[in-house]
Amino acid sequence: MPTDTTTSFPTQIDSLAGHAIADLVAEFGTPTFCYDADKIVERVNDLAAFDVVRYAQKAASNLAILDLVRRHGVLVDAVSAGEIRRAMAAGYQPTGGEHPPIVYTADIFDREALELVVEHGIPINCGSPDMIDQYGEAMKAADKTPLGITLRINPGFGHGHSQKTNTGGEQSKHGIWHEQLADCVTRAAENDLIITGLHMHIGSGTDMEHLSQVCGAMEQAAHVVGPTLTSISAGGGLPTPYRDGDQRVDLAAYFDLWDATRNRLATAFGNHISLEIEPGRYLTAESGSLIAEIRAIKQMGSNLYYLLDAGFNDLARPILYGAYHPMSICPAAGDEGSEIKSERKLQDVIVGGPLCESGDIFTQEEGGFVCSRQLPEAAVGDYLIIGCAGAYSSVMGSNYNSKPLAAEVLLQDSKAHVIRQRQTFEEMIAGEIIPK
Ligand SMILES: *Cc1c(COP(=O)(O)O)cnc(C)c1O
Repeated sequence: MPTDTTTSFPTQIDSLAGHAIADLVAEFGTPTFCYDADKIVERVNDLAAFDVVRYAQKAASNLAILDLVRRHGVLVDAVSAGEIRRAMAAGYQPTGGEHPPIVYTADIFDREALELVVEHGIPINCGSPDMIDQYGEAMKAADKTPLGITLRINPGFGHGHSQKTNTGGEQSKHGIWHEQLADCVTRAAENDLIITGLHMHIGSGTDMEHLSQVCGAMEQAAHVVGPTLTSISAGGGLPTPYRDGDQRVDLAAYFDLWDATRNRLATAFGNHISLEIEPGRYLTAESGSLIAEIRAIKQMGSNLYYLLDAGFNDLARPILYGAYHPMSICPAAGDEGSEIKSERKLQDVIVGGPLCESGDIFTQEEGGFVCSRQLPEAAVGDYLIIGCAGAYSSVMGSNYNSKPLAAEVLLQDSKAHVIRQRQTFEEMIAGEIIPK
């Protein structure tokens, strides 16, 4: 790798929709997540061929993002009682429409989630046989006519960009084991429940070959259930380009595979089968950037560290999965015109956060191996922008080290709208009680 390259570096970056970084920092401080609304809408439109795009809101569940995708025709998946409530708070109706607006997908019901789906008539996608019985019993107890249920099947194989994002195979806790599907059909009948859909989601970061294997497994499973089926869901897992040169998936080819599967099933059953897709990361990852400030630069033996005011309390993907995020640096406010700073040498640096935990490093590989990144020379006070931080980023934020949750900003119509205030200290300790 060349080490003597100079680079001119941006005061605004592509994912910030034309906003100057210094202006965003002046208004919102750091660390702050910014989301480019147009990028989310572009990704939604990419998937227009599918009958239903159901957003896996766990990727980024701010009400403003849910509202944005809702206004663009996207339905929503909820994996907890909290996500059901969020969907409703963002304007999704629990019932009505050609396809259910909200579907509860999980491997368990906690008691609150079971109460909510029964109370609001929200359809469920069961990831365990126990959920079938619990739902059947709860609907009977409430004297309600049950809705058709869908089953999430674990086809016995999986794939993901890391062990922790692989959601198929016997090492994964997710879904109903494919060999138990026939038992579940009986179980559903015993509870007077009709199985109207099947769902498979085998992991995030899947390549086309693995995704196409899922079609085959889906078709087999569908024949076990038979003609009560009216929908199939391809799950999520669509990859997002994180590095320069990463290819976008061939969505047309992907759709064609699923469409052919759906059509064969429709012919076999004499039903229309609707085709759902359930992306999380694909819709929001690229839209998001985490803006942080470089607060210290230090040489430790042969390693140079840039230490930020953002840590894994803000963005946990590197420490969780060794995930790679693109990074760029922007000069501190007022320095944009400086010639010295507009052309800087690249150097190998390790980028870390403020937490009292040695794993608090943004440049690490899976297994926790620290690695370096070529970034421009920088000074304390410059900003470091972590890209592709729109999915599984802010939502995994924590208060570790008593750090407040970061602010979130939506860039839309040339304006920057705060969509979550930075948490205050008082909010952070609200609910904590010293016994008298
Ligand atoms: C997490 C999840 C998704 C979304 O996965 P992505 O890799 O973000 O697309 C879809 N469906 C279910 C059931 C999930 O749990």
